[in-house]
Amino acid sequence: MKNLCEFDYLSPDKDIESLKRSIVYKLMFIVGTSPKYATPTDWLNATSYAIRDRLVERWLKSTKAELSPKVKQVYYISMEFLMGRFLTNAMLSLGVYHEVKEALKELGLDLEKQIELEPDPGLGNGGLGRLAACFLDSCATLGYPVTGYGIRYEYGMFRQQIKNGEQHEVADNWLEKGNPWEFPRHDLQFEVDFGGRLQQEGEKSYWVDTFNVMAQPYDSIVPGYNTQATDTIRLWSAKSNVAFNLGKFNKGEYLEATEAKDRSENISRILYPDDSTMSGKMLRLQQEYFLVSASVQDILQRHYHLHQRFDNLKDFIAIHLNDTHPVLAIPELMRQLIDNHGFSWDEAWEQTIHIFSYTNHTLMGEALETWPVDMLGRSLPRHLQIIFQINDKFLKQVRAQFPNDNDLLRRVSIIDEENGRNVRMAWLAVIISHQVNGVSELHSQLMVQSLFADFAMFYPKKFCNITNGITPRRWLALANPSLSKAIDSHIGTNWRTNLEQLGELMSLVKDKNFLHQLKDSKRINKQNLAQIIKEDLKIDINPDALFDVQIKRIHEYKRQLLNVLGIITRYNRILENPEKNWVPRVFIFGGKAASAYYNAKKIINLINDIASKINNDERIKDKLKVIFIPNYGVSLAQHIIPAADLSEQISLAGTEASGTGNMKFALNGALTIGTLDGANIEIGEHVGFDNMFIFGHNAQEVAELRQRYSPRRYYDEDIELHTVLNQIANGFFNPTDPDKYKSIFDSLIEFGDHYQVLADYRSYVDTQDSVDVLYQDEDAWLRKSALNICQMGYFSADRAVTEYMQRIWKASAITL
Ligand SMILES: *Cc1c(COP(=O)(O)O)cnc(C)c1O
Repeated sequence: MKNLCEFDYLSPDKDIESLKRSIVYKLMFIVGTSPKYATPTDWLNATSYAIRDRLVERWLKSTKAELSPKVKQVYYISMEFLMGRFLTNAMLSLGVYHEVKEALKELGLDLEKQIELEPDPGLGNGGLGRLAACFLDSCATLGYPVTGYGIRYEYGMFRQQIKNGEQHEVADNWLEKGNPWEFPRHDLQFEVDFGGRLQQEGEKSYWVDTFNVMAQPYDSIVPGYNTQATDTIRLWSAKSNVAFNLGKFNKGEYLEATEAKDRSENISRILYPDDSTMSGKMLRLQQEYFLVSASVQDILQRHYHLHQRFDNLKDFIAIHLNDTHPVLAIPELMRQLIDNHGFSWDEAWEQTIHIFSYTNHTLMGEALETWPVDMLGRSLPRHLQIIFQINDKFLKQVRAQFPNDNDLLRRVSIIDEENGRNVRMAWLAVIISHQVNGVSELHSQLMVQSLFADFAMFYPKKFCNITNGITPRRWLALANPSLSKAIDSHIGTNWRTNLEQLGELMSLVKDKNFLHQLKDSKRINKQNLAQIIKEDLKIDINPDALFDVQIKRIHEYKRQLLNVLGIITRYNRILENPEKNWVPRVFIFGGKAASAYYNAKKIINLINDIASKINNDERIKDKLKVIFIPNYGVSLAQHIIPAADLSEQISLAGTEASGTGNMKFALNGALTIGTLDGANIEIGEHVGFDNMFIFGHNAQEVAELRQRYSPRRYYDEDIELHTVLNQIANGFFNPTDPDKYKSIFDSLIEFGDHYQVLADYRSYVDTQDSVDVLYQDEDAWLRKSALNICQMGYFSADRAVTEYMQRIWKASAITL
């Protein structure tokens, strides 16, 4: 068995003949069918297995290099990973795209069609989950020893369908046709306990009478680009440890017999489709604990295997918490060290405070996670006890430093006594983590000035900023082959792993040939998107129109509604002045609303209603079209973003922590229309504020305006806005149900317009006019687009994870 995996013959070749042979072999011996009877999915799975084979040797090598007592291990725990398709990414990493295409062609198959059959694993809601996926890609590419831990949800976020303009949610059964990219580890299961009670014996606590669920890992390879290095994403699946009740089964009570099994396995059944609000559900709490308990057990087992001791833990592991969802990992590590490994409280504390770090993703109150004390006490009594002990210890320190400030004590206590009794997960994360980071300069600044101001006074060195980034592999090399080719023709191919090299294109921004290449590439991408829209929605759009795109979760703070007000204004103006030389526009929307988010669903409905009125208005023709593309996800984003001319990043200043969609668009040459929010500001600093369209109030002005805000004033004083709002309120777009959007009107006029949409309306509409003016000057537009592309290098996720590595995790790349 000596070094069997290092034998050359195990590593399959990548030439066309070998690939062909492998694919047919997999089809026969793994999928179990013959070319004659194979379905398209059979071929996809066979192709995926053949490609996966070519990653395995690298993976085993990397894993072996990581499994060394000298290597500090980094664990990235996240409730969401929005990975996107594996096949294309794997082919890109291996550099076999063209060989596979050719091999399939010789087998009578079309690679592009195969690719589109792969389901997107919908294991995330949006930005946060996609960030985790971009980070893993970068960590693997840079050879960083990072493992991603998440949950293998059987059902991802719902599939969105639009019927009569409304969102319908259908189960996202992404595993339906199998998942060739995962390796189930049947022999490696951890028990996760819930419920029960505490038994106290002196200082020692025993957690007894629990019920438990088994956590079984499924591993997938995270390939690095153009390197032997890979990482692993390990997703936990809940398995019952009671197979089923044979007694009941034999009595014919079949459903009852499997009930207990089903109940425990429900824990990993479905991803909560809830993005930016706290969802206080028992099952969600169980999911969070399930994830962290299994992960911490796995981390400790692995550490012990390498070191045969636990007292050096903090020197060899770093655990990163992506938002507060995995914060229970903190009391869980304390518990395992104290209850299972003989640590004293102080010894466990000393390890724990050096191991954890935490990324904050939102400052919005309604999105901050808290759990009722009784609910935590019922599900996890031992953890609640540890949290109380942490809190006591911390409050004692605070009291020592600020003896008479009871208000401060009340504010910083992990237990919020004000509204029932709730555990503030973000407070726990901040107190224990050695570093807490925000995700853009503005957000990190606001984080220490507002949400964590008290803590910043107490721990001035704990807080830092690491601005988000995106992987250039998926978001440029894979998504935009025509632009990639144009870039390659000038600066070669190394920008894929060193995005700052795009700066070398700066000398070409006036070069006619280069600008022509950009124009041709954009045109190809717009035609491709027009084709997709034609096939899926049966709507013709003009590829020469300006494509104006807003794709992201539907949320009031992101202000899709502001975009809608602008579109209706434009529609009214065209009807008033049809002969004017209008710049044709196609407004493209995509995004899901959380299933219980009433206002967001109304906005989707309104977009679709105005779309059908405008698209069917003979007088408008090509001057204006509105498209809502259903079921937005990573793969659709890969098709839409390269085709965009204008990127809508119009959140209320101070609410969008960073945004990463904004980065994807600018990197692909779309100009941004946006507010001074999140990473838009830093994008402006890099690409030049002259090369984007900034409008509206900034974060400070928003805060000031909040004190004296009167939305009705804008309604009364701005005639165009007045007309538009009346049209929405009076059923202009839906005469058969005229009150349908009264609630939207009311949220703006009667209920305070919390996201200050009306305050930024005039500035937005005027700025959109200047967009039209620039678009008519093709060269000027192209030059600005080029200036965006060339100066986006900073926003690579490679830069972001390198900062995490140097400033937070303090680990090093492996050598292979
Ligand atoms: C990048 C991305 C997001 C985040 O977009 P924002 O505009 O930053 O909110 C959400 N969903 C998907 C599928 C993405 O690719």
